[in-house]
Amino acid sequence: MKEKIVVIGANHAGTATMNTILDNYKDKEVIAFDSNSNISFLGCGMALWIGKQISGPDGLFYSSKDILENKGAKVYMETPVNKIDYKNKIVYAQDKNGNKYEQPYDKLILATGSLPIEPQIEGMDLKNVQYVKLYQNAQDVIEKLKDDSIKHVTVVGAGYIGVELAEAFKRNGRNVTLIDLADTCLASYYDKDFCDAMSKNLEDNGVELAFGQKVVKLEGKEKVERVITDKQTIDTDMVVFGIGFKPNTKLGNGEIELFKNNAFLVNKSQETSIKDVYAVGDCATVFNNAIQKTDYIALATNAVRSGIIAAHNACGTKLESDGVQGSNAISIWGLNMVSTGITLSKAKALGYDAVCTEFEDYQKATFIESGNSKVSIKIVYDKTTRIVLGAQLMSNYDISSAIHMFSLAISEQVTIDKLKLLDLFFLPHFNQPYNYITMAALRAE
Ligand SMILES: Cc1cc2nc3c(=O)[nH]c(=O)nc-3n(C[C@H](O)[C@H](O)[C@H](O)COP(=O)(O)OP(=O)(O)OC[C@H]3O[C@@H](n4cnc5c(N)ncnc54)[C@H](O)[C@@H]3O)c2cc1C
Repeated sequence: MKEKIVVIGANHAGTATMNTILDNYKDKEVIAFDSNSNISFLGCGMALWIGKQISGPDGLFYSSKDILENKGAKVYMETPVNKIDYKNKIVYAQDKNGNKYEQPYDKLILATGSLPIEPQIEGMDLKNVQYVKLYQNAQDVIEKLKDDSIKHVTVVGAGYIGVELAEAFKRNGRNVTLIDLADTCLASYYDKDFCDAMSKNLEDNGVELAFGQKVVKLEGKEKVERVITDKQTIDTDMVVFGIGFKPNTKLGNGEIELFKNNAFLVNKSQETSIKDVYAVGDCATVFNNAIQKTDYIALATNAVRSGIIAAHNACGTKLESDGVQGSNAISIWGLNMVSTGITLSKAKALGYDAVCTEFEDYQKATFIESGNSKVSIKIVYDKTTRIVLGAQLMSNYDISSAIHMFSLAISEQVTIDKLKLLDLFFLPHFNQPYNYITMAALRAE
């Protein structure tokens, strides 16, 4: 009999797990359950769709029940798992028609993802108050925007999702206020000067910023009409919350060891504290190379990689994660920002003896007459060990690929000195003989 691998959750992490097993281990039986009706929705496309930068949602999916079943899996959609008997290795689920399933497993992969953080404030049940996570949420927003009386949208949370949505609603022709507790946007990913450049970009494009304030309640009769913060009242027609995600780990039922934020605690093989049970994606921890500790970073990239690792381990091939650096990017009205590792302010807050080296220059040789832009770079490193802890780049030019090298540098614990005379090519079409990476590294103390 084939060994049974049961996957709970068939989005990015679950799909990566299943594809890896189905492509490499024909001797395994794969059975998956998902509570949703769709698979593999790319949430990053939500803002592009709302902002009319893409014509529709069709390209935002890369897998489906049919694709996975054609490869040999059995996939139950709209069938939430409600209980797991870890001792006897049985998963219990029930579909929307009331059909009950008792599915035994040899290996179990938990890929239950994350849920939006819901603020505990008055008025959350008013109409036109939205979360942004699922395809259905995006559909809801698009449908509501057909109503011209929605003239003003308030976005709460100025992380990368909130900033992207602020741009999207503005592009959609709405007035937008962006609220955050912090006194700037993107504070988890960039240091203040970079964040301020993005804030200015948002303001220059007409987004009203309401930073350094907390939403205390929402008001309205049936629909939301006002957002009340601890500093002001904002008249509005729609409120969208993007204040973060929490791991969805209810199925652990107190039996699986959890991290401080309740994510399933996993080792580098994605194993949980229960034998033959793995956890992947947003419901699980990662190893953060920048701080050399277990951490929680919810990204689709981590979901896919962890799914691949769990699949191999569950099928008997030992494979360990190399850890992650939280590499990320954002592009708003042509201002591109990328970062990896930790910021200088976070490094200091964590107790590192951290400093940074910075440089600003044109991307290409100045005799190149068009398509040139300034680039700012900041490299954060530990003054004692000299190990690179983080890097940030910003430009109107597409500098995104440069961050991959810093991601590897952090992963390999490279020192800032190693970057000083690193062989970087020069061709005027692309860059300058005195490359800004070299120049920033040479300026390090
Ligand atoms: C608006 C937005 C933009 C984003 N942009 C980016 C980006 O640009 N780059 C990036 O790297 N990341 C981005 N992300 C983050 C990324 O989407 C998540 O990290 C990713 O979805 C995690 O995948 P996952 O499979 O672990 O979890 P999820 O996507 O949360 O999927 C979990 C799945 O488990 C199912 N499930 C849960 N409980 C049960 C149960 N009891 N029984 C059965 N099924 C269950 C759910 O239905 C769901 O399908 C974005 C997220 C959002 C919301």
